[in-house]
Amino acid sequence: MKLLKLTEEDKKLIDAARNIITQNKIQNNKISCTVGAALISGNKTYKGINLQIETSAPTSICAEMAAIAQMVSSGAKMIRIIVAVRANSKTRWDVFQPCGACRHIISQFGNPWVIISRTGKARLSELYPMPVK
Ligand SMILES: [Zn+2]
Repeated sequence: MKLLKLTEEDKKLIDAARNIITQNKIQNNKISCTVGAALISGNKTYKGINLQIETSAPTSICAEMAAIAQMVSSGAKMIRIIVAVRANSKTRWDVFQPCGACRHIISQFGNPWVIISRTGKARLSELYPMPVK
């Protein structure tokens, strides 16, 4: 896989994803929000947070999905860069790759750069080479 080093814009996007993670459980401790995602479409940043519902995990929502829904509701259609960050505390965090469902959803909005670690990014087409369109 061809990885590129992160730019300052990429690092700011990671910070944007980190900054929306609440660290707190909501709704009587049944919903966790420990993943933040941020994406750039055009020159605008959209962010989303996950909703991990502990009593029914299959109904949980990925942070990337929430960020994409915000982008679409604003009328934007193409993702240029996207990242997801998981944090257990303010200092313990990491960038991670989108799940299979998110890779498919992202593929409907172009072939963006996906930040997959604290140091590198790859084109979505390298992570998800044959999307169904
Ligand atoms: Zn996902």
